[in-house]
Amino acid sequence: MGGRDATMVLLDENGIRCDGRKVDEPRRIMIRAGGLKNADGSAYIEFGDNKILVGVFGPRDVHPKHMSDTDTGILRVRYHMEPFSVGERKNPAPSRREIEISKVIKEALEPAVMLDKFPRTAVDVFIEVLQADGGTRCAALTAASVALADAGIPMRDMVAAIAAGKVADTVILDVNNEEDQAGQADMPIGYMPSLKKITLLQLDGVLTPEEYKKCVDVGVKGCELVYELQKKALHDKYFGKGDD
Ligand code: ADP
Repeated sequence: MGGRDATMVLLDENGIRCDGRKVDEPRRIMIRAGGLKNADGSAYIEFGDNKILVGVFGPRDVHPKHMSDTDTGILRVRYHMEPFSVGERKNPAPSRREIEISKVIKEALEPAVMLDKFPRTAVDVFIEVLQADGGTRCAALTAASVALADAGIPMRDMVAAIAAGKVADTVILDVNNEEDQAGQADMPIGYMPSLKKITLLQLDGVLTPEEYKKCVDVGVKGCELVYELQKKALHDKYFGKGDD
């Protein structure tokens, strides 16, 4: 939050946002399942100007061994932003923000994956942010779910994710970078649509109880939209494009 550009109009008198979208309109989303031949599963997502590649490896042996669990497989997630992914070069060393996002994505995926049949193993999820424009954790979580499914990892459901938020006292869907910087609130949501369960919910900013409920509603509806695109990406890979 904070208002980098005080003159920017986040919502004009016709209800149009700074990038031309309506309040409930997501950015353009393109998801592709597969693509990395050396990974067990992979996915690529473009979510507005975010471009993110995910590779999944495993279930495989855990090194060092003492990190393994004799009762279940474990999930490990590394979210990494390329130095060239943002306007000003990012230090390639893992930042506190990347460590936090790796942790929240891991915790958001854990309710979906069923690793109890793979004791002593690990499933590794590598997330490479090639271009960032606000909402990378949601885009990455969405693509990671598709990559896990592509790897054949047994899952209860896929996690679809998108952020709701507030600009100019109005609840909006899919917060972009400018809205994240200059807006009033940003609420990333991860949701398992078939199970109707939220697995990620964060909030940066201040909302009234009514706005909070509205953001959750708008975000969950957005996740349902994203879910259809995740399923389509897998369908296109395994059954061919345009084949319903
Ligand atoms: P998210 O990407 O999930 O929205 P944040 O709210 O932390 O996560 O970041 C918002 C946006 O800020 C990112 O998507 C990215 O465009 C930008 N950003 C993050 N880190 C940096 C950085 N080190 N330098 C420049 N821009 C950054």
